[in-house]
Amino acid sequence: VSPDAPDELPATYERRIARARGLLPGSAALLLGLGADLRYLTGHTRYATERLTMLVLPSAGPVTLVAPRLEAMAAAATPVAAGGLVEVVAWDETEDPVAIVADRIMASVADTPRLLVNADLRAGHLLALQAALPGAVFGVDSEVSRALRIVKDPGEIELLRFAAHAADRALAEVAAGPLVGRTEAEVSREIRDRLVDQGHDAASFAIVGSGPNGASPHHEAGARVIRSGEPVVLDIGGTRRGYGSDLTRTIWVAGPDGRRPSAEFSAVHETVRRAQAAATSAVRPGIAAGAVDAVARRLISTAGHGPEFIHRTGHGIGLEGHEEPYLVAGNGLLLQPGMAFSIEPGIYLAGRFGVRIEDIVVCTDAGPDVLNEAPHELLVVEG
Ligand code: ZN
Ligand code: ZN
Repeated sequence: VSPDAPDELPATYERRIARARGLLPGSAALLLGLGADLRYLTGHTRYATERLTMLVLPSAGPVTLVAPRLEAMAAAATPVAAGGLVEVVAWDETEDPVAIVADRIMASVADTPRLLVNADLRAGHLLALQAALPGAVFGVDSEVSRALRIVKDPGEIELLRFAAHAADRALAEVAAGPLVGRTEAEVSREIRDRLVDQGHDAASFAIVGSGPNGASPHHEAGARVIRSGEPVVLDIGGTRRGYGSDLTRTIWVAGPDGRRPSAEFSAVHETVRRAQAAATSAVRPGIAAGAVDAVARRLISTAGHGPEFIHRTGHGIGLEGHEEPYLVAGNGLLLQPGMAFSIEPGIYLAGRFGVRIEDIVVCTDAGPDVLNEAPHELLVVEG
């Protein structure tokens, strides 16, 4: 799959559906509403609303994609439907889609089937399904979806790399300035535009945390005006054919009066840079996800900032911005070639400033493959 290919190959989805079936016990079915799991198996993606879209994938027998009439053309155009792997059943505005789904399930599995839904299925849809299928036992499909999605294929990795490079370029453009005198919200809007200009299909987020706002890791860009002589945390991401970028750099805005980084800020930045580099170097097949977190945490703790590293070291990335594997203390999951995740340690000094550095990294047999190319050294912006 090239990042510019108009459509993925039907064979890719055929293989994925076969794998999903192989993971299902005999009397079970997957019931997938709109979301990453459905997109992974079929290529179908729409904005999730109160109208039910649902893939009915039993362990054997026909596969059905139930979709509202006004989205059925899009469903029929997916490679799986066009290739005859999945039958699209459209429902009209006055019909009950849950009854259609229930009929399809009872036609293909036992009286008391085990039904696995995606974790982000709307509660309203799940409750309606439970009412329509009183004999069924419901669960979350996480074991199936994890096994399918946690290791990326080469095409997925190239999409992640394409998105990472587009984010690198967008960040470099914004960091060229000017920044002084502009609000965080203005800069955030510019980042979103540049993420798309550089090759994303859509921007997902653009955190701009200036001065003390940088101490709040998920700060929403707001009305604060960026001043000279302060740091700014930029955490940006978009998607390319569904696959995300997620890049953070903390820059210093020197401004026209040329105020250089304080010694304290420089030291904190250097600690985070070293922690990020050390955790990245630790990536290899067979190391536990939690052990990578420990590498970054030990370095930051030794520097005296352990309590101020208030989040895990990283998260998987793919069709979702946050997915498995999670690089968090206690996670014994062993990394495998093809797993993709962020490495993003940070130090947050409440009321003063924060520093975070984040790349997307793929585990390979040869060690870490860092998808981002943005430099890690402290960038001082002159304007
Ligand atoms: Zn991020
Ligand atoms: Zn992240």
